[in-house]
Order: sequence, then C-alpha cells, then structure tokens
Amino acid sequence: MISKFVTKTILPNSTIGVFGSGQLGRMFAIEARKLGYRVHTFSPESDTPTGQVADIETQAAYEDLYEVRTFAQSVDVVTFEFENVPSACVEAASEFVDVFPRGEVLHIAQNRRREKTFLSENGFPVTPFRHVTTLDELREAVGSLGTPCVLKTAGFGYDGKGQSKIMSPADIEPAFEKLSRQESVLESFVDFDKEVSVVCARDQAGNFAHFGVMENEHANHILDVSFAPAIVSERTFNEAIEITRNIAEALGYVGTLCVEYFLTRDGRLLVNELAPRPHNSGHLTFDACVTSQFEQQLRAVCGLPLGSTEFYRPAAMANLLGDIWQNGEPNWTAAMSDPNVKIHLYGKAEPRPGRKMGHLTVTSENALKAAAAVRRMRASLQRY
Ligand code: AMP
Repeated sequence: MISKFVTKTILPNSTIGVFGSGQLGRMFAIEARKLGYRVHTFSPESDTPTGQVADIETQAAYEDLYEVRTFAQSVDVVTFEFENVPSACVEAASEFVDVFPRGEVLHIAQNRRREKTFLSENGFPVTPFRHVTTLDELREAVGSLGTPCVLKTAGFGYDGKGQSKIMSPADIEPAFEKLSRQESVLESFVDFDKEVSVVCARDQAGNFAHFGVMENEHANHILDVSFAPAIVSERTFNEAIEITRNIAEALGYVGTLCVEYFLTRDGRLLVNELAPRPHNSGHLTFDACVTSQFEQQLRAVCGLPLGSTEFYRPAAMANLLGDIWQNGEPNWTAAMSDPNVKIHLYGKAEPRPGRKMGHLTVTSENALKAAAAVRRMRASLQRY
C-alpha cells in the first residue's frame, strides 16, 4: 500500500479529536496542550484519564454514528488511542475529517487473523499460526502446529485477555470453551530469549523515526517493566528497526506505531503484534527523550516535521497496577527518595487488581541500572 496523502498542516490552536479516553490519550493530550492544541476525546465513558486533560469530553457509544459525525465536524483531525473502534465509526468520521492512522490500518490491527495474514503475506516473520473457527479445526491445527501452543481470540484481545495455553490434546476443548468458541488464531508457543519492541513514527511524507529497541518484561501477560536501550546485538537492533520500518511503509502508516517482537533463543525476531498507536513500552520516552512517542503522534497527524528521538539518558519504566493500592494509598514519598524517579498517575478513581493506574520512570547511566532502580522504587510504594 502506498500512501497518497497530500500533507495538510494542522496548526496549534486547532482541535485534535481522539477516539478512546485512557492513559495513552491522556499523555497524548498533555503533549498536545503543551503545543497549544485543543483536544476533544470521544468514548463511552466519562471523567476519563483523557477527558480530565482534554478541553472537551464526549461520552457516547462508538456505534452512535450521529454523535460520531457531530464529533468529527467539531475537530480538525482525528486520531485514536484505542484500536478497537468499529470500522463504521472511523468511516463516519472520515466523511468530515482526516483520520490517522487510516481506517484500513485499524481494520488490520484490530484482528489477529488479519494482522498475521497481512504480515506473513508481506514476508514479515511471524510465529507459525492457524486460523480456527470450529473445534474440529482447532484439533487439526493443534495436530499440525504441535504443543505447546496458544489459542487467542481473533478480536478484542489485549494484555493476555482472550488467551489460553494448550499443553496437550486434553486442553483443546477447555481452551475453546474458555474463549467462548470464538473465531481464534492458534499460535506455536515461542520459547523466547526475550521480548522487545520498536516504537516508531511515520509522517505524511513518509519520513520515519524510531526510538531504538525497548526490552520488555511481562508478568501475568501484562507488561511489567520496559527499559531502553535493550540489551541486544547490533545485528538484532538493525534487523528490528528494518522490519519495523518496512511494516510502517507497507501499511502507508501515519502516526506512532509499535511493533512487538519475540527474540528467539537462536537469535531470530518474530513479530508478535502491532499496536497502531503509542504503546506502554514507549512511555519512558516521555521523560527520557527529546520528543516523546505522544508528541510524535501529534506531529505526524498534524503534518508537522517529526522531532528528534534522541535519549537524554538510558531509562526504565515500571507499570503501577491497582494491586499496589491493596493496603491503602501507595507511599509516594518513598518512591521519590530517588530524585531520578518520575511518577505518572492516570487519574483513575478505582484501583482494581491488574488495572494500569500509572507508571514510574527512572533515568540512569545505563539501562540495567535504571531497571533495577525502577523496580526498587516501585517496591518502596507498597504498604504492608
Ligand atoms: P499478546 O496479548 O499476544 O501480546 O500476549 C501477551 C503476552 O503473552 C506476550 O507478551 C508474551 O509474553 C505471552 N505470549 C503471547 N503469545 C505467545 C506465544 N506464542 N509464545 C510465547 N509467549 C506468548
């Protein structure tokens, strides 16, 4: 796909529309407001992380196309922080205003089957997979891929939701039931050395900028700690950047994109998934880089030149899940005892277990020191 856009510059004081209202939209809105833009967020919720920072918060269903059209007529350009917006909603908005990234990209990235098919048909390395709609197809797919393998719903999955591991044929039926017999993708289980990601931005003229390679550690399928630069060979670094650049080109992408990878024990990179928006592994760019992943998104969708992605210092980020609140308000003063810690909270009222409430960033002279410090400071938050 080749991008055919005529660059249109959306200048400060214009209004950026954002579909979705979580923490990604909040950090985007903070950057947009720093640059003098107005922000209008649209989602089914109210008093949201994005809404608290935006100028205007519309609370309506994505299926309410009357409200979507009204919203689209009140803004100068639309982007999103949440990729599971229905296609009809994006199409309705596109009648009035440019939407970046484009609806076709969303359509691909919001469904694992379409995403994996797009990647493999374009020659990008992915985990071996099979498309599954029935129990018989699942049995056949497990037979051909072997165990262990992972069954994932094709749509609406994130942070390990909608996934079930299959260790032996006895797990096949329970796994299919657990996923409510939905259309799914079965993947081989990758015995990876580490997980890494590349956050990049591509503008309307096709210019590309990246933040290098981030190294990511998960806990219970949820991102736990990211640090940059990742500890990888020069060959892996170059390959990760090249694959990411080629994916962004193939999609005719405009905005911030994250490509998540498995690095296998024999040094191969496999694409795990695409996030067509700023990504949790890029949060550290907010404090560690000349231009954050959120400002890059803003610049790309507004037709402005991309900023420098240079790091001031190596950095690490640790997520703060609701679990940290279980014995009361976390000890913020203790975490600030390291003067390099930056605390980000998303304005969510209810700290449920597993819910992303905020994150800490630490910069240091090297990434491993930053990762150790961010873990230590996070542990100091917990009340016993
Ligand atoms: P996902 O939502 O697909 O990104 O999965 C969340 C996390 O589950 C990944 O970051 C991995 O840690 C783990 N995971 C998912 N798929 C696989 C796989 N095929 N092999 C090994 N681990 C996986």
